[in-house]
Order: sequence, then structure tokens, then C-alpha cells
Amino acid sequence: MKITAIKPYPAWSVWRNVFLVKIETDEGIYGWGEGGTSWRELGMAGVTEHFSQILIGKDPMQPGRIWQEMYRSAYFEGGRVITGAMSAIDIALHDIIGKKLGVPVYQLLGGKQRDWVPCFATTSAPTAEEMIESAGKLMEDGWECMRLSVGERWTESPSVFEPREDIPRQVDALIRARAQLGRKVVIGIDYHHRLSVAEAASFCQAMPPGTLDFVEEPIRDESVASYETLRQMTPIPFALGEEFSSKWQFLPYIEKGLTNYARVDMGNVGGFTEAQKVAGWCEAHYIDLMPHNPLGPINTAASAHLAMATPNFAWLEMFQRLEEREQEADRLYPGNFRAVGGRMEVPDRPGLGIDVDEDAIANSPMHPDDWVVSRLVRRDGSVTNW
Ligand SMILES: [Mg+2]
Repeated sequence: MKITAIKPYPAWSVWRNVFLVKIETDEGIYGWGEGGTSWRELGMAGVTEHFSQILIGKDPMQPGRIWQEMYRSAYFEGGRVITGAMSAIDIALHDIIGKKLGVPVYQLLGGKQRDWVPCFATTSAPTAEEMIESAGKLMEDGWECMRLSVGERWTESPSVFEPREDIPRQVDALIRARAQLGRKVVIGIDYHHRLSVAEAASFCQAMPPGTLDFVEEPIRDESVASYETLRQMTPIPFALGEEFSSKWQFLPYIEKGLTNYARVDMGNVGGFTEAQKVAGWCEAHYIDLMPHNPLGPINTAASAHLAMATPNFAWLEMFQRLEEREQEADRLYPGNFRAVGGRMEVPDRPGLGIDVDEDAIANSPMHPDDWVVSRLVRRDGSVTNW
């Protein structure tokens, strides 16, 4: 079998911009993948075109070797945009291999470790009362883990974020949520790396012990030393890693005990080939995977296959979207994976078990507005993290 075409599709899809890749072969078997470096979709498309120059004519049954060739060719190794494109290609190659062999992708990864995939929910509401009510409903539906937040993170403008105003709002709401929801539910918050070390310490130290089970991304991840400093200022477990684009980026966070849940993103880290190596490293350090999954249905399917085959696994991120949006996803992505009550069943169809309406994707240009909102400023006008 030979690769005959690699088609990048930066596109608007159901609820957001996505970056998809379709790989075609001379046997008529094709595979789909998704890259995860959001708001860099055009960059991933360009890198994919570079890779197609060296991959057309190659055997798609060798994803491990192809990963090495993509990462280590052309001298400048790695980087999020490059591994975003690599991730999409690696996922598509596994889709092809599964179809060729007539097995689901999880079978290629060592087979099933579980019968279904546990998932976590995210809920946010304008007030603590509404947030707690929404969380209670999720619990009634069977969800056992959730990320909560209250208020508009943004203040008078959707583009303004003031950490010192947000921290007490979240602290008060989370303390009330724990008191009312009880001890059974696992509660976390995602701070989207918007805080400084001092601000993150203030937030964590205001939490009574037992209130929060994890805090996700309190600060940015470029500085391992800064996380070591923050680690000394709070005992709350950290959930980190959604932006990491290789095993080497995970390495210090795993070995120094700085991440307690590994937020592997299948579309960023380098696809199945790299994610399995990170998972093994985490297993050796008693760290469970908690994959980052805010993108499209192809990334969800890839994450679910990884979850099925990984012994050290906590929960897969699943957003609660409007039913009409999910139905649109069902139409655009035949076989779309859904989670019901915190559980996701993974089909045993060959490959990823999900398809894409290629004509619809090819005729769905990205929404430029979806890029503009991804910028935040402080009230004084200075730039802050999105
Ligand atoms: Mg996050």
C-alpha cells in the first residue's frame, strides 16, 4: 500500500474552527486525523504540505518510522505547529491501518483495558447557585468528575480578564459547591494558564483542604522552575500538559511530580505514536491520563481509542453541547462518538470508527471571528494570557 494524497482541511466545523487531514492510498483505503494547535490551523496546513512532499509514495503501515522522519527531518525538530500537523497525519495513518487489518485502532495499541471510557464534564454559570444546580444535574445523570467555574471570567468586556477579581469569585463558589455537592464528586477548575505564580498561590491557599481535587493549568508551562516554585506553595494536585507537543516536554513535569493528571492532547502531542510513549512514562510514575479534548469529533474518537488501550487512565474531557449541535456533528461525522452519563462506548468498527463528510468540510471555510475572541487584556489595556 502507498500513500497517494495528503489533504489538509482548515475549516469551520459545527462549533469551532478545526484542522483535519485526509490521507488517501492506492488501495482506496483512506484515513482521517485532526491537529490540535488551535488558531494555528493555516500553519498546520502549511506544514502538512511540506510533509506531503516526503510522504507521498510511502507505506502508511509504518507510522512509527514516519513519525521519526517527520520529526527529525529538515533539521528544525518539533514545535507545536509541526507536531500538530504530525498528530493529524499519525492519527490518519492509524485509521488506515485499522481499516486495512479490519480492527479498531485500540486493538493496534495493545487491545482493550476497559469496557467503556470514563469522561468528565465542564460547567460554568453566571452565579454560584446556577453553577451548583447545573453540577447537581450532571451528577444525577451519572457524571462523577467535573470542572466548575462561575461568573463570566470576563468582566465588563468579553476581552478583559482581571485575576484578582476572578480569584475570590471562584473560591467562594467552589467552597459552596463542595459543601452542597458532597464528597463523592471529583471537582476541578481550569485556569487556562491565566495566573501568575503569586496569583495561583493565592487561589490555591484560599481553598480549604478537600475542596478541590485538581487545578488545571494555573500558570503557563514554559518554565518548569516556576511550577516547582508553585508546587511548594500548594498541595492541590495539578492537571497539566494539554499544550505539550512531545514526550520531551512532558518529561520534567512527570519526573519532578509537577503534573498529577497528564492532560495529553492527541492533536498536539504527536498522535498515537507519541501519546502511547507519554502514557507509559506516566504509568511508571503512577500518573493517570486525563486527555484534553475540546476540538472536533475526530480528536474525540482518537482520544477514546487511546483511553481504551491505556491502563493508567482517569477521565476523557467531553463538553456538554446543545443537542442540535451534536445532531449536526452526527450528520457531518458519521459514527460521531458521544458520552452518556459520563460514559463513552467505543465501537469495534475498523479504524477510528468515524467518517467525515469531505464535501461539507471542503466547502466550510474557517470563521475568522473565532480567532479574534482568543485575545484577552487587563483593564489597563495590557496583554494577558488567553
Ligand atoms: Mg485546559
